[in-house]
Amino acid sequence: MQILKGTPVSPGIVIGEAFLLDFEEFRMPRRAVEPEAIEAEVQRFENAVDRVVAEISEDVKRLEESMPDGDLHLIFNGHIAIVRELVPTVVDSIRKYRFTPEHAVSKKIRQTIKLLTSRDDPSGFAARIVADFTDVEKRLLRVLFGRRGDSKSGAAGKSIVFARDLTPSQTMALDRTKILGFVTEFGGKTSHTAILARAHGIPAVVGIADVTREVSGGDTVIVDGTKGILIVEPDGETLKKYRALEKSFISFEKRTAEEMRAQPSETRDGIAVALLANIELPEEAKGAREFGAGGIGLFRTEFLYFDARNLPTEKEQFEKYRSVLQAMDGRPVTIRALDIGADKDVAGIASPERNPFLGLRGIRLLFERMDLFRTQLRAVLRASAFGKARLMFPMISTLEEVKQAKAIVADVREELDAEGASFDPEMPIGVMIEVPSAAIAADILCSEADFLSIGTNDLVQYVMAVDRVNEKIAPLYQPGHPAVLRLLRSVIDAGARAERPVAMCGEMSGDPLFTALLLGFGLRSFSVVPSAIPEVKKVLRSVTIAEAKQIAQDALALPDAHQVVEYLTEKTKRIIPELF
Ligand code: PEP
Ligand code: MG
Repeated sequence: MQILKGTPVSPGIVIGEAFLLDFEEFRMPRRAVEPEAIEAEVQRFENAVDRVVAEISEDVKRLEESMPDGDLHLIFNGHIAIVRELVPTVVDSIRKYRFTPEHAVSKKIRQTIKLLTSRDDPSGFAARIVADFTDVEKRLLRVLFGRRGDSKSGAAGKSIVFARDLTPSQTMALDRTKILGFVTEFGGKTSHTAILARAHGIPAVVGIADVTREVSGGDTVIVDGTKGILIVEPDGETLKKYRALEKSFISFEKRTAEEMRAQPSETRDGIAVALLANIELPEEAKGAREFGAGGIGLFRTEFLYFDARNLPTEKEQFEKYRSVLQAMDGRPVTIRALDIGADKDVAGIASPERNPFLGLRGIRLLFERMDLFRTQLRAVLRASAFGKARLMFPMISTLEEVKQAKAIVADVREELDAEGASFDPEMPIGVMIEVPSAAIAADILCSEADFLSIGTNDLVQYVMAVDRVNEKIAPLYQPGHPAVLRLLRSVIDAGARAERPVAMCGEMSGDPLFTALLLGFGLRSFSVVPSAIPEVKKVLRSVTIAEAKQIAQDALALPDAHQVVEYLTEKTKRIIPELF
């Protein structure tokens, strides 16, 4: 049994089989081989070895012919030696532990790699050997799976996905109904994997260095997404304890969702608070309704663009926006203009930059790509005829940008008018407050924006100068830092003074820890991942505005994020002890 610690990013406990995504989506089931099938499995492994050795020998031959003076063939001869060396241990574990050949191969290679990388390697020799072992593993698994790739037990079950990192397009390609949990080496609380996991109520831990080396596909693992713990190959006692915890967490989630669904979203003293949902795909609108969302506060449209060769047309986008508006049945839907760049370079549209988080992203990129911008605006405007649409611009840092973006909207409106297309001429246009300049000068932006929506995911990273997806500095990513809290309060105040609605759509708004504090700052509109709605509602229904103000005042008097979190934990624990 091995216990590893990372950053908890999506609460809940789950026990299951590990699935290593980085290994070409091979699954390595650890099912025990039936005693009578052991010899057949040994034979299957030996056949795979023969086939791989033959394949590599072919490669060697080709290389010798095409590059007689090169020494690349030596590397491949080395691979043959590695394969042969593996045979006795793998056969032994099939016979002795009844491992499947896939699991035995994967386990043995992982152990070897671990050993190699645990030593100092000034010459880079070990690193090269690791690459050789990895290559051999892939070849062997490809052949083994090639013969039984889709066997029922192999591909059908649910599992816990392990990856170094998950790009947005990788996550888009995953069948989410088969994912029990996520564990990654990179990333922080606002990385895309984390947001996705929370959106789907999937427990997740990120930032565990080298975890894809520690774990073999098929290992039994426990993911505690509340505490940020991963347990590999738990012993019987631990398994029993976590099975009970898993069950009680699921029933708590279900209970809270059922308990809260029909309850109005208001504080204990009856002040209404908008609880909206963040979605990334149109299909998620239905789930948002089931959780009782009062609308969509953030529709991240970049995920419609995840295939660079197939950018969505105006018609496709229009249909998607309209479907969300119709699903929300008259409730507000805030569609965010494309926010491509940095962590969300979904379609490879942004070009590489030295510092992409400070580069051409969000609205800045849209001004450069008028084709994308105008197409999207046409689609959003046309869809606005079918519900209560609102449009929002990302990464605004100056008033000029808001004016310029609005001028383009006005131009597109004229164009649509001339074509006789219908749209809502009053569609509100707002801005994200996620850059310090926008937050500090929010009052100025209010002169042009119909509403503000605070994007804490970016705002915290820019205020703290901490890359939001860099696990090495994750402890410095502090939404509870006094600087962040002061700034949030000043944005909310600026909106109130200018009579502009202020919402929050960053992950902070979906963390029940901050609900009372934000209410106390005067926030009355929270947009959160759908699965967080019941918990946030539970907290806001149990405090009065006067209590929330007191909590906000107390928190603002504290000197650092740790004390703020400790103080808020103590307060929130009394309302939802199950979350801590
Ligand atoms: C934010 O920055 O808080 C936000 C909601 O946008 P995203 O996470 O998509 O950058
Ligand atoms: Mg953002």
